[in-house]
Amino acid sequence: MGKKEIGYCHICGCYRKLSYEHIPPENALNSNKAIIYTGDDVVKRYKGEKSRYICRQQGMGKFSLCEKCNNITGSWYVPQYSDVAKDVARILHNRESLGHGDILGFSSNNFPALAFVKQVITMFCSLLPIEEVKRLGFDKLLLEKESNEVDTTLFDLRIYLTPANVGQLMIGPCTVLYKTNIGFETMVVSDLGAYPFGFILNLTPEHPIEYGASIMRFFEAEYGKGYNMQWGLMYLERTSDTLPMPLQFKALPKDKK
Ligand SMILES: [Zn+2]
Repeated sequence: MGKKEIGYCHICGCYRKLSYEHIPPENALNSNKAIIYTGDDVVKRYKGEKSRYICRQQGMGKFSLCEKCNNITGSWYVPQYSDVAKDVARILHNRESLGHGDILGFSSNNFPALAFVKQVITMFCSLLPIEEVKRLGFDKLLLEKESNEVDTTLFDLRIYLTPANVGQLMIGPCTVLYKTNIGFETMVVSDLGAYPFGFILNLTPEHPIEYGASIMRFFEAEYGKGYNMQWGLMYLERTSDTLPMPLQFKALPKDKK
């Protein structure tokens, strides 16, 4: 790993020693084997070329954040995110299994909406090129604890539920063809599977995605406040676990759209 440990931090942009960022946070059920693909790797693999992917026994993650940014996000956003992830995993564990496209109702009267969504953004920063992090304003958003300022015209962020047996997946921004009501659109999308959740970052929000539920409204919340929350989480299965592409889900049953 030697030379990978020094580089540009994906949040503050400083060139310095990087620390291992667990994605999702280690205490949020991330201690199993994981496979990470960058966008380029997925395309290469798709073309049949040998792709370089990283298999980490200590859980999914990357050397992508400097120690300072890792510590900041670890103390400001991770605990709240982990609590929610554990609650939802517990609910899934204690009920009969869901089918593709099913909606799981989740309610909370103390939901830490802003910290949760900022931790999701933190995880995506590790996958995004630094220029993209800056264009989207994610650096300022994350480095100011209470900030909830984002330009909601630049992206859409969606959540879904992922099966436990698929493991964890990180797919960096890829250009994908996506079928919409009016035909196929070229979209730029990053997809992060982190049991029990999966997240979709759509960088072409002018073309909306039907999978999952948008969590953009969480940016209207205030830091440190808990909210009443009634949430419908969509459970999604992929068409292939060996060749993961963003949005590569089975078709949604008509009655579940
Ligand atoms: Zn940093």
